[in-house]
Amino acid sequence: MRYDVAIVGAGPAGAASAIHLARGGQSVALLDRAIFPRDKPCAEYLSPAVEPLLYALGIEAPLEAERPHRLRGFRIYAPDGSVIQGDFAATRGADGQSLFETGLVIRRLLLDAAIVEGARRAGAEVREGWRLGRIARIDGGYRLYPVGAGEPVEARLLVAADGLHSTVARRLGLHATGRMRKIGLVAHIRGIAGLVEYGEMHVANRRYVGVAPMEPGDHDALCNVAMVVDEERDGRQLAGRPEEFLLASLRTFPRLRDRLDQLSVERRTLTVSRLSIHARRLSDARLLLVGDATGYYDPFTGEGIYRALRGAEMVASVALPALAHDDLSAAALGAYDRLYRQAFRGKRLVEQIIQLAVQTPPLMNHIAHVLRERKAMADTMIAVTGDFLPASAVLRPGYLLRLIV
Ligand SMILES: Cc1cc2nc3c(=O)[nH]c(=O)nc-3n(C[C@H](O)[C@H](O)[C@H](O)COP(=O)(O)OP(=O)(O)OC[C@H]3O[C@@H](n4cnc5c(N)ncnc54)[C@H](O)[C@@H]3O)c2cc1C
Repeated sequence: MRYDVAIVGAGPAGAASAIHLARGGQSVALLDRAIFPRDKPCAEYLSPAVEPLLYALGIEAPLEAERPHRLRGFRIYAPDGSVIQGDFAATRGADGQSLFETGLVIRRLLLDAAIVEGARRAGAEVREGWRLGRIARIDGGYRLYPVGAGEPVEARLLVAADGLHSTVARRLGLHATGRMRKIGLVAHIRGIAGLVEYGEMHVANRRYVGVAPMEPGDHDALCNVAMVVDEERDGRQLAGRPEEFLLASLRTFPRLRDRLDQLSVERRTLTVSRLSIHARRLSDARLLLVGDATGYYDPFTGEGIYRALRGAEMVASVALPALAHDDLSAAALGAYDRLYRQAFRGKRLVEQIIQLAVQTPPLMNHIAHVLRERKAMADTMIAVTGDFLPASAVLRPGYLLRLIV
């Protein structure tokens, strides 16, 4: 039962980490309470920067066989109804060369199962239906006990990839809940008219909803509808009737209400609460956190899968040499914290600025007017949220000044 690495959670972060580590010659146990394919509350949009990461992992099948719907950019509707359009293809990547033309909408049911399959192919031992119960530090590693009967798993290194409400992070006292209390509701719906090759974000009444078409077609296309609401204000209203609440609330968005025609729901509405969480540290002796287990802020910019896959690359870049030298001390693994925070700190600040605008309608309306007049600035914003330009492209004083003044 002794492995080099035990990874708890086989979502994109855990399964991608398993691929990198198994390819690096480590014995890996990938453990998940779910049995794949499994669903996940998510807007199911992949930013243009995600596709190359999936190809690097050898995950071509869902991209080619399932023909996921492609988006050319996003339209953002402010509370006063004004719209900003940002096009991916209008901006080249950070290297000045690569052209990121489309994002994708793909069911998590398919995507996540494909990455788990990739982990199995790479040599990881995948255990499904394995829910983490107790964790014990032992000499030279960790021992993980499943809930109920079942053999414990021992490993030299533990990777916590068990998502937003990570059991590992909570048991080890690493998580703190953020001040923002939001609930996400996600459905698959038909009957929204006027859908094109753009994702849509509608902001009104301090709520927002993302609409991502999952197939072509104007009236009857299936789309993913993901709404984020305030827990304090809306929590009681939606309790026990999330689908009814979601459908009724769609009518409160000015540029959506006239386009709703005979809505039909194709998958039960999934919900997730307590969206804002942060981890005090991302590593310790023999421990790394990756993906949502490192903390999560808000889904507006939809970058969670990108962060999960990039995080998995960073796990491998720090863990493989540490395992090879048998130095899994807090000091050696601390390099991961620095790498991770350096990569994502700027984007987190952009998310916080966007959230401030979502919560302050006059500010959101003002920004929408500015970006509508200055298309290049809108494209830059979309490129940053799509992860192919660094956050510094919008955090420059010149950009911020033009946005606010
Ligand atoms: C409403 C909403 C919409 C979103 N939309 C988008 C989007 O459009 N695009 C995007 O890129 N990101 C989006 N995200 C974020 C994205 O879903 C996450 O960032 C991403 O799933 C993180 O991957 P992960 O592997 O870290 O965690 P997860 O995908 O959550 O995987 C964690 C895994 O851990 C397992 N697990 C948990 N606890 C245990 C346990 N005790 N024992 C064993 N296994 C356990 C779970 O079964 C699960 O399979 C959205 C998030 C929300 C809330």
